[in-house]
Amino acid sequence: MSDNRLIVFDTTLRDGEQSPGASMNLTEKLEVARALELLGVDVIEAGFPITSPDDFEAVRAVARQARRSGVAGLARCVPEDIDRAAEAVAEARRPRVHVFLATSKIHRKFKLRKARGEILRLAVEGVRRAKAAVADVQFSPEDAARTEPEFLAQVVEAVIDAGATTVNIPDTVGWAMPEGFRALIEYLFEHVANIRRAVIAVHCHDDLGMAVASTLAAVQAGARQVEVTINGIGERAGNAALEEVVMALKTRPEAFSGCDTGIRTELLHPTSRLVSRVTGLAVARNKAVVGENAFAHESGIHADGVLKERTTYEIMDPRAVGLAKSQLVLGKHSGRHQFRQRLRELGFRLADKDVDAFFFGPFKELADRKKEIFDADIAALVETETVRVPETWRLCGFQVATATGGMPTATVELEEAATGRRTRDAATGDGPVDAIFRALERITGVALKLADYQIRSVTAGKEAQGEVRLEVRLGERTLSGRGVSTDILEASAKAYLGVINRVVARRNGKAPRPPSRRRPRRRTRTAKPST
Ligand SMILES: [Zn+2]
Repeated sequence: MSDNRLIVFDTTLRDGEQSPGASMNLTEKLEVARALELLGVDVIEAGFPITSPDDFEAVRAVARQARRSGVAGLARCVPEDIDRAAEAVAEARRPRVHVFLATSKIHRKFKLRKARGEILRLAVEGVRRAKAAVADVQFSPEDAARTEPEFLAQVVEAVIDAGATTVNIPDTVGWAMPEGFRALIEYLFEHVANIRRAVIAVHCHDDLGMAVASTLAAVQAGARQVEVTINGIGERAGNAALEEVVMALKTRPEAFSGCDTGIRTELLHPTSRLVSRVTGLAVARNKAVVGENAFAHESGIHADGVLKERTTYEIMDPRAVGLAKSQLVLGKHSGRHQFRQRLRELGFRLADKDVDAFFFGPFKELADRKKEIFDADIAALVETETVRVPETWRLCGFQVATATGGMPTATVELEEAATGRRTRDAATGDGPVDAIFRALERITGVALKLADYQIRSVTAGKEAQGEVRLEVRLGERTLSGRGVSTDILEASAKAYLGVINRVVARRNGKAPRPPSRRRPRRRTRTAKPST
């Protein structure tokens, strides 16, 4: 690999999945992993295997599936974590174990209660243990940005000697300022004698909105692996966004001495939409690169300029990030061929037989309800239809009666997929949406607590589709759902029923499974620390 080729290490499935409300099931994780590989990500951090049997299985499944990308599993610096991570990634073509241990004074004192010497010893032992299982070992001194530079240099040198092939310098708490972070990386290059034997990585959090800036500053100082997530999702305020880092490097190569990545940028938009859909975390309209408004020009002067010469107000070509111009594309009379063609242009890589089997029908139905079908409609449709949670309950129909001053009542009919048995029930609520939710709960026996409810239109116009996103609490967990329809009550019902199906699938998944080959399954979920 050339000196200017950056390694893109994506942690959407690990750090990203730790965002509140963003948990993904196995099918969803595999779909995201496939998309990341297609995008050209070099290493996929697939999870934290020790935390639960589900996490372990997910990492193992991603490892088996990956063709080109390396697959990393995270481990604390303790033997059982490391062994479990190594076991989970073992079947990957390029397995990596990522060991972390906090090095900052504040973490040493309050979290670990260990002195510097002890930390150094544990780090070396951890790396050696991982190295015995896999050749590719990454070490992260957690909270590196707040660690005393001279101690950090000592740790980095020791872990490289112990066999670490990548050393990641995380700004775990989003504390660094870009200038200071650049200086820290430069300091390491000056003070760590064996630093050229490893790749230096950076992992920045966005608590002060500096994650991308600090990441890029570190690249200027010599870091050659960037740890990022799609849409910048991650713990708290999130991580450095893959699409922003990649497009900054591509748009301003002179600022980074020509450093580039292997990312196929035209897949940024489709990948962003996929992650947003499976996590339920919406992308802000004004988000750089992938936000809906990122290439929209409202001001007359700007719009006029762009029409005369695009580069007057656009520093990136929307097509370069996979944003097809929103245009009137299809309608009632469009055939299969046109529909497939448009899907390809929008970045969906689907087999023709899948398009015909799963999407063409719903597309025709939509075309009957809505005259003009825009790109956003097609994207919303495909994104709703793919990766369905196993449907225990299917919505057959509903009726709502509401009047000012009256009591809204909803009658809902559901079908049980396994038996085909239909059940109808009615409920009242604070409003029509609430009444529908109560009726769904009565039939399915699943009671949820609504935490967030958002509605937006997918495209403009009177007959536009409405998209409902909602978050519900179930005990300690937050689950999200999404529904799209030309009828917002139907979209709401679909979104809520989606979550109910997810809860039911989760409960069914908890049925006893054969014990793992090597060790008893852990019952408890280890709290996930962030790196
Ligand atoms: Zn992190």
